[in-house]
Amino acid sequence: MNIRERLKDKKRIVIKIGSSSLTHAETGRLNLTKMEILVRELSDLHNQGKDIVLVSSGAIAVGSRVMGIDRKPNSVSEKQACAAIGQARLMMIYQKLFSEYNQTAAQVLMTKNTMVDNLNRQNAKNTFKELLHMGAIPIVNENDTISTYEIEFGDNDNLSAVVAALIGADLLILLSDIDGLFTDDPNANPNARFIEVVETIDDTLLGMGKSSTGSNVGTGGMATKLSAATIATSAGADMVIANGKDFHIIHKIISGRNHGTLFLANAKEEFYLIDYIEKLL
Ligand code: GLU
Repeated sequence: MNIRERLKDKKRIVIKIGSSSLTHAETGRLNLTKMEILVRELSDLHNQGKDIVLVSSGAIAVGSRVMGIDRKPNSVSEKQACAAIGQARLMMIYQKLFSEYNQTAAQVLMTKNTMVDNLNRQNAKNTFKELLHMGAIPIVNENDTISTYEIEFGDNDNLSAVVAALIGADLLILLSDIDGLFTDDPNANPNARFIEVVETIDDTLLGMGKSSTGSNVGTGGMATKLSAATIATSAGADMVIANGKDFHIIHKIISGRNHGTLFLANAKEEFYLIDYIEKLL
């Protein structure tokens, strides 16, 4: 059996969308056509009986455009204000689009602190469980309006892996502006080879991750994606990194077609989420 076929049977899926996949490169404003496709793809998976969680970036990028700021905010308070504005705008659009397909979207905002604290973590876990039981589609982001350097995840790649581990997801899909994992930076090295499947994440592989991100929105580079892959696969989920330029790729991935890099689950018996979160500090 083709190893990709196993993706057809996934029951609980976390999908992470980066800011650059949600906005027009030229203006930084929301790409509504793409958002519509995203919501339709997720609604259809939900209609197939799968639990769906969306981790969406974009709060800061959207908020700054709303306020006419044409660059990444530079102070913490400016970033937090932009996030407050942009997060509400994002959710308004998601609510509208999901309701067109008879789906209920729910907002969950997290910080690293909530995940490290035992009581908060348990609460978050219970809330996700209840939301999925009710048939809602949780839309998760970092709580950028209150998180500062000490308490933030800082990027949604790791946040989405933590969510996948917390809720016992069996698949995490990271969609960004890259096709997947290469042996080297494909923009700099023409001999860089594409890696289709990763069975184990070892030091050589971690060395291939470059921490830079090509886009001027969002924060995650390849290093954060590999760190996310370590968390997700150790928790027992498969993970796919693929290009989010066309969100139709979501059903293609889940129907077992060859898209992106697939990291195979490698569940660790003694997996303890806090250990992984603390390593992110
Ligand atoms: N939480 C940030 C936002 O919504 C994005 C973080 C990231 O791009 O990874 O703007």
